[in-house]
Amino acid sequence: MREENIRPEHMMQECAVLLSQDRAELLEWRGKFVMVSCPACGCFEYKAVFTKEGFHFVSCNNCQTVFINPRPDGALLEQYYNNARGLAYWNEQIFPTSEPVRRELIFRPRASRVIELCTNK
Ligand SMILES: [Zn+2]
Repeated sequence: MREENIRPEHMMQECAVLLSQDRAELLEWRGKFVMVSCPACGCFEYKAVFTKEGFHFVSCNNCQTVFINPRPDGALLEQYYNNARGLAYWNEQIFPTSEPVRRELIFRPRASRVIELCTNK
């Protein structure tokens, strides 16, 4: 299987453009981003590790989980996931286009392996 089979290049480029626009629109709301504790352990102590595409990533001092902080609050995340054109493009265009290949080359072998593991002793 080639990556092109499940992620057609021309579609991935279109998706990347849309996702970039979605991120830019989300970042316009950065004034409403909130500081959060570590999503894995709840610790409020962390250190900055890098910034990517306008989002600041920190590493938890307790468990080293890396997460965005500050991040959009729940309402902004809901708005983002409900309206993100890049995510919609993935779900409505890329995934359906590649579904037959995914089914045959990814899901069917995995299901066969699970059946094999469950039936062999
Ligand atoms: Zn943690």
